[in-house]
Amino acid sequence: MQPAASARGAGAAWPAYVTTSVICHAGAGAAAIALPQAWPWALAAIAANHIALTAGGLWPRSQWLGSNWTRLPASAAARGEIAITIDDGPDPAVTPAVLDLLDRHGARATFFCIASRARAHPELCREIVRRGHSVQNHSDSHSHRFSLLGPGATRRDIAVAQATLADLTGVAPRFFRAPAGLRNPFLAPVLQGLGLQLVSWTRRGFDTVRREPAAMLARLADALAAGDILLAHDGNAARSASGRAVLLEVLPGLLAQAHARGLVAVTLPAAADGAVTP
Ligand SMILES: [Zn+2]
Repeated sequence: MQPAASARGAGAAWPAYVTTSVICHAGAGAAAIALPQAWPWALAAIAANHIALTAGGLWPRSQWLGSNWTRLPASAAARGEIAITIDDGPDPAVTPAVLDLLDRHGARATFFCIASRARAHPELCREIVRRGHSVQNHSDSHSHRFSLLGPGATRRDIAVAQATLADLTGVAPRFFRAPAGLRNPFLAPVLQGLGLQLVSWTRRGFDTVRREPAAMLARLADALAAGDILLAHDGNAARSASGRAVLLEVLPGLLAQAHARGLVAVTLPAAADGAVTP
């Protein structure tokens, strides 16, 4: 079992947002006691703090609520690496075709799997790993209420997914992506406790809601550069006019453009470790 992507000791310092929030609440309380007429301002300060925490959770690429990879480490970018991340599977109607396309181009990808779907399709999960790709943690249930869960329920959901995916593939995930990228302030300490690194993305294809392959390719590839983390979907994927998941029509062009720019698609663990790329 690999250690966490970024080593963090037990008892590491609180994330900055926790310290800032504690200071804000304590300061507002002290001000309200010392200057009773200032209580509306103290209340406003606390409200502003909560709005900032909420906004940080609703903005998937923000760093306000703890460490969040929006790009690969500089060392991976220097090697010309990109990471294609594929969410919400495994899906028996789409994932096998995605694997064939990746094989054809000699590319590797990271599949952020929903653990309940992995339990329904365990062979597909194992096949992803057998073909040189990586399976990472995208929660157990992919609940639309995930960002509303308290710390206990958040930890239970992610830990169950972690156990499922490690058991099915023989490799413990090291990375986590929140459902829809939405978070709350409880997530960072939970991930720290489980040794997981949060990953969002540099660019996303919006391919759960948009059906046009050309537009998705442009969103992902027009500014494609070393170190990019791209987000696409095999599960919950919108269908193009041909009835196929949009990613299946975009992947060949995306991989061709990456190749033309001298970029290599690797898994997140390979990018983190500097492993020899295929
Ligand atoms: Zn998802």
